[in-house]
Parts: sequence; structure tokens; C-alpha cells
Amino acid sequence: MAKRRCAACGCLFAPRRNVPQQRYCSKRACQRTRRRRWQRQKLKTDADYRANQAAAQRRWRELHPAYWRRYHQSHPEYAERNRERQRERNRRSGGAGPSPQGIANMDAYRSQKPFCSGTYGLVPVAAPGVAKMDTYVVEMQVIFTG
Ligand SMILES: [Zn+2]
Repeated sequence: MAKRRCAACGCLFAPRRNVPQQRYCSKRACQRTRRRRWQRQKLKTDADYRANQAAAQRRWRELHPAYWRRYHQSHPEYAERNRERQRERNRRSGGAGPSPQGIANMDAYRSQKPFCSGTYGLVPVAAPGVAKMDTYVVEMQVIFTG
């Protein structure tokens, strides 16, 4: 197969036979870029995905309160930025809706490697009055590269 140019680093690479649409080379940084772009796009265009992500992050923070506390302690600027963003969101939404403490983005997890890649059962945090919620089976990929 003809070589093509990676959409991240611009290097030529040979696409894998089983991935004819491959646009990024196999370098870790480029795969991370691909994943981040995909996620950013998905967050922008897919409300369900957005809700799932927010629920997953909420759940994760509940399961790892110590990690989250440490992260905030060692990244005061992150916490501050987060509060800014939340205030901004609150302004835009007219103050309505839930306002969890700091909605994290994926970058927040990069400073440590909190879990392993693999398949997880994801249970949304139930809103008050919601009786039953489905469990999502999700494939989690650790994108930490140190
Ligand atoms: Zn590349």
C-alpha cells in the first residue's frame, strides 16, 4: 500500500492493511493526538457521548477521591481554571442545571496512570428519582505516555 502522510506529525507511514482509512502513524504521540481530536469532535457533536463522559468522570472521581484531592492540591491552577470555566458555563446556562465540582477534561488524568486499559462496566450515577439505569460496557484506553 502506498505511503501517506500522518495527520499529526506529517511523517510518511505505511497504513496497516486492516486499517485502510488510517490517517495517523503508529507513534504514541500521534495516536494520542488522533484520540484527542476524535474525542473533542465527539464531545462537540454528540450529546449522548457528552453525557456518558460526564457520568463516567463523575463516577471515576467518586471511586478515586484521594487521587482527585491530590490532583487538585498539586495543580491549584487547574482547579482555578476549572472554577472559571464552571462559572462561565453557569453564566451561559443562566445558572440552571446541576453544577458538579469541576467537570474534568481528559487532560486531567495525564499526570498519573490511575488504571489499566481494558473493558469496563460503566454504571451512570443515578439522578435523584431515576430508578434504573443501564450499565454501559466501555473500552477504556490509557493514553498516558509519560
Ligand atoms: Zn505521526
